[in-house]
Amino acid sequence: MTDIFARTRELFHMPEGVIYLDGNSLGPLPKAAAARVAETIESEWGNELIRGWNSAGWMEMPSRVGDRIARLIGAAPGSVVTGDTLSIKVYQALASALDLRPDRKVVISDSGNFPTDLYMAQGLLRSLGKGHELKVVAPEEVEEAIDETVAAIMLTEVDYRTGRLHDMKALTAKAHAAGALAIWDLAHSAGAIPVDLAGARADFAVGCTYKYLNGGPGAPAFIYVSPEHGEKAVPALSGWLGHEAPFAFDPDYRPAAGVERMRVGTPPIIALAALDAALNAWDGIGMDEVRTRSIELSERFLAEVETRCPQLQLASPRDPLQRGSQVSFRFENGYAAMQALIARGVIGDFRAPDIMRFGFTPLYLGMDEVLAAVEIIEAVMAGRHWDRPEYRKRSKVT
Ligand SMILES: *Cc1c(COP(=O)(O)O)cnc(C)c1O
Repeated sequence: MTDIFARTRELFHMPEGVIYLDGNSLGPLPKAAAARVAETIESEWGNELIRGWNSAGWMEMPSRVGDRIARLIGAAPGSVVTGDTLSIKVYQALASALDLRPDRKVVISDSGNFPTDLYMAQGLLRSLGKGHELKVVAPEEVEEAIDETVAAIMLTEVDYRTGRLHDMKALTAKAHAAGALAIWDLAHSAGAIPVDLAGARADFAVGCTYKYLNGGPGAPAFIYVSPEHGEKAVPALSGWLGHEAPFAFDPDYRPAAGVERMRVGTPPIIALAALDAALNAWDGIGMDEVRTRSIELSERFLAEVETRCPQLQLASPRDPLQRGSQVSFRFENGYAAMQALIARGVIGDFRAPDIMRFGFTPLYLGMDEVLAAVEIIEAVMAGRHWDRPEYRKRSKVT
């Protein structure tokens, strides 16, 4: 079998002695990104100066890079734009959705959603001051919570803690049948699993690019607006670069065509250059191949850990088709256990209160490493190597 992933793993820098099972939190450094950032700084910024906005194509970068992400999430060219952070993009998507449903006051989300999505919604609803209500229900209760009072459902497709997958197509259809809109957060989907935004008829989608897309810490986020709403969506953050003609310096805001209106201010060119180079790794790769390999890796990991580490309790759905590209286990000393693993080169992460999380990323992770990681996990658990005071000391980032 010719292994496309043997080629892609060469594209990444991986420090000696590390088995990286945390690409779901921060993807590793693509070698091309380092070279590209240096070139952007030295040659484009250094020599082109202000001319770079035209001569180096900086002004088009947010949509050009957006189009490259679009291919990975089943979106048409011209429907995705990059910039800002995911928290900001959540705000923009929800604000525009609510504006499209002015007679409705309920937003549905679920208790598995990442807190910042809920926080941003809370802040937005408060400042709108129109009596909107955020209803947070259990993930399995989302479907029955959708009724004719709902303006929008705002869900993260893959649960960040457990990896549980929502049925995007079915829930979007249910929302539409009730006259509501559907906003999908793809933070743990983009680059992890096949996504078909157009096929699911999603109205808005957002995501970050530093997880499975390997764009680097704090890499720009993306937002998708369905072409159906492109010309109707009113941007809440009406910045000058989302204006129809920024350099007309018109005192009145007029939205740019389509998703371009979701741009806000000056794009982070150096960060976009890193992301653009990182996306090269996906050239010629289909998300179906990634999914197949991810399931092979995660199924084997899950089976081995369950048999060899009776202390760990599976927190992810057992059916691989019901989860994203991660496997999580509960363990009451999970934080200390993860620190012990990291000290031994197996890098995963911990999510309160007791979740040990492991991500599977076929572009740079192979079966040999997965099995080697299992050996180390088994040794740490069986020998209680985690039971040391230094492993209990909590860092700021877990
Ligand atoms: C990682 C993640 C975020 C992070 O938001 P930032 O603004 O990039 O810090 C938000 N939402 C979800 C669902 C995530 O998984």
